[in-house]
Amino acid sequence: MKKPVIGVNVPSSATMGSLEGELGRIAADGWDAAELNLAACPFILGGRLQQPAVDYVRSLFEKFSLHYTAHVCYGLDLRSPDELHHRVLDASVRVCAALGIDRLNLHFEEFSHDRAKEARWLERVREGADLAAGLGVALNVENVEVEDVRYALEAVETLDHPNVGMTLDLGHLWLSANWFHYDFLEAVKACVPRVRHVHVNDNGGVFEPMRLTDYHLYNTLGKGYRFTFDRGDVHVAPFWGTAPLKEAFSVLKSAGFDGIWLCEYYSQLFHPLNGDIRRRVLEEIENA
Ligand SMILES: [Zn+2]
Repeated sequence: MKKPVIGVNVPSSATMGSLEGELGRIAADGWDAAELNLAACPFILGGRLQQPAVDYVRSLFEKFSLHYTAHVCYGLDLRSPDELHHRVLDASVRVCAALGIDRLNLHFEEFSHDRAKEARWLERVREGADLAAGLGVALNVENVEVEDVRYALEAVETLDHPNVGMTLDLGHLWLSANWFHYDFLEAVKACVPRVRHVHVNDNGGVFEPMRLTDYHLYNTLGKGYRFTFDRGDVHVAPFWGTAPLKEAFSVLKSAGFDGIWLCEYYSQLFHPLNGDIRRRVLEEIENA
């Protein structure tokens, strides 16, 4: 096996002004890749691409020898009839192409059980994937803990589009498997043929129902409080929680996964331990 490519997300607290410092820390900690949520910088305003922000960040990206990946802005709802969401996906793809980002992650979110909405979601992802294919950007659909993973997997299988893969978020899967009562490792095995990107993060396996009943209040809970009391999708560093990550690594590795092992956690809260965290992940992948 060639050396695994291991990345980390740019901290959610980053702004365009702090991005150079964040990328410098990521490179200094030895990560190979960095994932940027496109909402961190004013790339897209009202669905329209803003060239000055793109040009500035492109110049920053060139200063570091990192592989860059992206996440769409949270709140993108491709089931919505509002065309703005369609334009935001389109603009997100174009921002990636302009920044030299070759893979873009979007959440599946909750299955609606409404045929028209699901058909709209499929159609919009298909159109986005066609556009992205022409621009050298792959789309990956990510499982979220609010849903049984099989809905995201089935959607990717239904699309069966050469430019649409799956982002398997292992922390989300751990919460979802416990909440919806299915086997975590069997689910990893079921998804693996479609997996092109992995989010590695940890938690205590305890789903937080407020994520579904009151998302806005949920978002106001402090991270320290949520860590201490194990409230849901806490995105702590890999191997700091209870998710069976070693076992999942083994399944992914035996299946020949050759994408990026993107550690998606609140790295700003783990500084200065991030270099050690990266080394542990590398060691566990190599030993899996
Ligand atoms: Zn994720």
